[in-house]
Amino acid sequence: MSYSDSRKDSILSITNCRCYYCGCELSSDKFCVDHFKEQEGKPSGRLVPACVECNKAKSYMTVEQFRERLQNVIFTNLYSRITSHYIGVPIPEKVTFYYEKAGL
Ligand SMILES: [Zn+2]
Repeated sequence: MSYSDSRKDSILSITNCRCYYCGCELSSDKFCVDHFKEQEGKPSGRLVPACVECNKAKSYMTVEQFRERLQNVIFTNLYSRITSHYIGVPIPEKVTFYYEKAGL
């Protein structure tokens, strides 16, 4: 689905040019319009900006399914635990998305 430039600009302004999920910076010519869905079965009327990676990884999942998937990958991945050990940054107990940290 394609959106008009003004529609895309207004979607991008929700996060001030950041990915709704990971918070990376987005450029106006390269981002995805993601359908934010809180729970299965609920209508998703909300369109949010996302980077290509998050948009692909999330696909048709709800935000909670996406969180669970990420947590499973992080907690079961040996390399994330080794990396965490070496760089001294603990693995978070719960994946927190950018929009939650930013209070959007
Ligand atoms: Zn992202």
